[in-house]
Amino acid sequence: MKSHGYAAHDPKSPLVPYSFERREPGANDVVVEIAYCGICHSDIHQVRDEWGGSMYPMVPGHEVVVRVTAVGKDVTKFKEGDLAGIGVMVNSCRVCANCKADLENYCMKGFVGTYNAKDYDGAITYGGYANNIVCDARYVHSISPKFGDKLAGVAPLLCAGITTYSPMRHWKVGPGKKVGVVGLGGLGHMGLKFAHSFGAHAVQFTTSESKIADAKRLGADEVVISRTRTRWRSMRRASTSSWTACRRRMI
Ligand SMILES: [Zn+2]
Ligand SMILES: [Zn+2]
Repeated sequence: MKSHGYAAHDPKSPLVPYSFERREPGANDVVVEIAYCGICHSDIHQVRDEWGGSMYPMVPGHEVVVRVTAVGKDVTKFKEGDLAGIGVMVNSCRVCANCKADLENYCMKGFVGTYNAKDYDGAITYGGYANNIVCDARYVHSISPKFGDKLAGVAPLLCAGITTYSPMRHWKVGPGKKVGVVGLGGLGHMGLKFAHSFGAHAVQFTTSESKIADAKRLGADEVVISRTRTRWRSMRRASTSSWTACRRRMI
């Protein structure tokens, strides 16, 4: 199927228009027209090959809000016209213990990323900086029609959103709990909004006084300006160990 988007051809050049082929849709696939795609910092890391192993040409994008334009004959979850979203993964083995427990992100064979990844059939995946995607319905998420006029705001939920939402739900963040958010960047602003909306006491840590007003507008009960290296290092250590513990428990 024909597709066009924006691709990086090497780590240094700007993205340029790029035409390419996606697979022909199968019985379990949906074809979607892309409405919006967020820009995640990991897109930038991979375009610049900062994590190594980047494959070019690369069409990034894994915060993809879409409208379904066609469904395969075995797809029951979606119909033409539905709103949907595609996040960081588009395939997994489906048979390992984690896949069977709906934890495909921990697939023991390794999940297939939405872009810059090799699918199990050897095809390179291309992401959401494009006009369409073909994807197995299992890896496509439903989006309520009530968000129809807010689709641009839905896009970051597919990566930064779920990354912060998941641990907060796991640790039952709510009234009576205190949440510290380090940095008001892509993930930080989502984390702050979730912590506030779940009823927790939200504390924003930032190095920038210019972000105090934004942090308060997004729901911070307190804003701490922190520029000391020691404190940052210890906070980073604390957040890493709690994340590791959380991840262990989720597995
Ligand atoms: Zn991301
Ligand atoms: Zn698996």
